[in-house]
Amino acid sequence: MFGDLKGRRVLVTGSTQGIGLAAVEAFARHGALVGMNGRKTPADLDSTLARLNELDGEVAFFSADVSSSAEAARLVEAFVARFGGIDVLINNAGGLVARKPLEEIDDEFFDAVTDLNARSALMVTKHALPHLKDSAKRSGTSASVILVGSVAGYTGGGPGAGLYGAAKAWLHNIQKNWVAFHTKDGIRFNTVSPGTFDTAFHADKDTDTKARIGAGFPMGRFGRPEECAPTFLFFASNACSGYITGQVLDVNGGQYMP
Ligand code: NAD
Repeated sequence: MFGDLKGRRVLVTGSTQGIGLAAVEAFARHGALVGMNGRKTPADLDSTLARLNELDGEVAFFSADVSSSAEAARLVEAFVARFGGIDVLINNAGGLVARKPLEEIDDEFFDAVTDLNARSALMVTKHALPHLKDSAKRSGTSASVILVGSVAGYTGGGPGAGLYGAAKAWLHNIQKNWVAFHTKDGIRFNTVSPGTFDTAFHADKDTDTKARIGAGFPMGRFGRPEECAPTFLFFASNACSGYITGQVLDVNGGQYMP
């Protein structure tokens, strides 16, 4: 079903663990050439790469802090130097940074949350744009940009997560502009919007707390990263989603139904 992903060059930001790492693995299983990115080099990088490179594709690691515009540019450059171009970009890096209620938000925190969740996606996409256009032109099929939004982009986020929720809503919105002005370049833009997934994102909660929160969702539990990964394959594959652009796909176990 995802046969056209073989040999596609896929850059996944923020992908050393959690949802991003599961996406990297899924693309590698389908024969893609995949860029794994993290701010820091993970301690188990060698064993992770060895495991991933036994699958059908090829995976390389690129260290870069994508909340910095200069590093976003450097990441794209390094990926292109390695794989010769970009066919699919997944802007997955994101996070809460910390939980701070309105009374405690200062400029430094505002910048940290918006840089990580909004600036990163915009700048990586901006620098990838010429390569995505080139991919579409040469292949005669569309290139694909996938944003990672959040249920918080609809609900406003939980305690102390207002800025994070707003940054995710910003992502849900800005792709509409990109669709309007870059469809002519042969690029599709879609958003995967996770609900609550059991990753380091929820490291502040113990097992009982996660079970109690999960019991409140129709599916009765948190999602697992590998349950989100196929949605990235779907939006990357022209065979599956070649006429789909500007959409938000909610992967949330029924937690929220916009
Ligand atoms: P995670 O904390 O497990 O993984 C985050 C990844 O991002 C890590 O690989 C980390 O190295 C990387 N990263 C963090 N800051 C970075 C930076 N400045 N530059 C480069 N890489 C950086 O988180 P996750 O749960 O897998 O989240 C992945 C995405 O899904 C995020 O955008 C998050 O906001 C979103 N999301 C997660 C949930 C959830 O419940 N887990 C819900 C909705 C949305």
